[in-house]
Amino acid sequence: MMSHMNFKELPYMLYADPDGRIYDHPYYRMAGFSGSSVAVLQNEDLMLMPEFSKLFYIPDCPPIGLDPSTGEHKVVSRVRLGHKTTRCQAVAAFLEPGIVRSHLPAADFGAKSYTLPMWGYTAVGFRDDHYLAAGFRVEYNHRWDPRNYDDHELVPAVRLFKKTQARGALVNHLVNCAVNNHCFAAKNLFLKRWEAPLPVSRVCNAECLGCLSLQPDYGCESSHQRISFRPSQEEVVRIALNHLNHAEDAIVSFGQGCEGEPLTEYRLIADSIREIRRKTAKGTINLNTNGSLPKCVRELAKAGLDSIRISLNSPRPVYYQSYYRPKNYVFEDVVASIALSREMGLYTMINYLVFPGISDQEAEIETMIALIRKTGVHFIHLKNLNIDPQLYLERMPKADSKAVGMKRMMGLIQKECPEIEFGYFNRSIR
Ligand code: SF4
Repeated sequence: MMSHMNFKELPYMLYADPDGRIYDHPYYRMAGFSGSSVAVLQNEDLMLMPEFSKLFYIPDCPPIGLDPSTGEHKVVSRVRLGHKTTRCQAVAAFLEPGIVRSHLPAADFGAKSYTLPMWGYTAVGFRDDHYLAAGFRVEYNHRWDPRNYDDHELVPAVRLFKKTQARGALVNHLVNCAVNNHCFAAKNLFLKRWEAPLPVSRVCNAECLGCLSLQPDYGCESSHQRISFRPSQEEVVRIALNHLNHAEDAIVSFGQGCEGEPLTEYRLIADSIREIRRKTAKGTINLNTNGSLPKCVRELAKAGLDSIRISLNSPRPVYYQSYYRPKNYVFEDVVASIALSREMGLYTMINYLVFPGISDQEAEIETMIALIRKTGVHFIHLKNLNIDPQLYLERMPKADSKAVGMKRMMGLIQKECPEIEFGYFNRSIR
């Protein structure tokens, strides 16, 4: 527990006025949530907020700040500045890729009657002219550094691609992804480097609460338009060959944010992989998936898939069920896909959608250690789950397992499973 005096070292709480302008509070200090519990932040929880992060305000939700004189947390609905009193709204950050948030924004969500769009909301404060966010870097990779994505280079690259490569529905879809949705993977296709996307599936056999490509009416808007057509094998192979043969550190990945579940199109993918590998041995062919259909995973591994990234929000079946809402498959199928992928020699990764207060519960950590030991998975992506925190907490089972902190969670798993690697980005393995 920080000594009383240290409270004053904490960054100042941020708030937004009714017009969304963001200010640092003259008195209250920054706080954070672990799940729905307010937590006193420690210096080791804080990092300078990287410049390509975003700031959001949360309408109708006053922030919760820490009173540095008493150490008590207060809901700060209004602030008096000179003769004026202003209503306060909470502020949150969305951090650059490669950073895991340790705390959620501390706010009173009581008055909120809407669902927040899908971002990884993170606690943020202000001190010494800097924004400080509650998080830690798990991996730096220049291939995903926003500073290396300059659209002045992209536009001529797209023009050249259109001129030199045959057109098609998938190319047009990916131009929209690169130019309008600012998808880094799609930009890489036109910039002929690193990891490029091959979305193919219109449907999914799950109904994730935080699905990026399809949200029910009463929810919030989906972040991506789901692909509405089935690309031809000819176009998939042509785009993949062009990238694998000419791009630096080339990876092509099936399973993108703008599609459903790629395993629902496993035949198209298997036939495409076989044809690609008949024509080139270069680069890495990867699959991002929910891992729901082990039989299909086996077919893709036999066809020549190199690596696989299987997503889950929790290794505890009841939490998985509550988030993924699977149709015609069960969590054990996902575990079977992870183990099978390892057995069949794929570079096997888990895309762990983490959430402070749930992912760092002792019961969760024990279950994740058991899953790693059972499957022999190589690598764990620690991805901030992009979802309205209130919605997620409402839908997850109420557990009384103690939360130990996100960084400590990673340390405990690493200690028990020294062979596991943590990170944030897919790997080229050829
Ligand atoms: S598995 Fe993917 S496509 Fe399917 S519902 Fe979940 S996020 Fe959406």
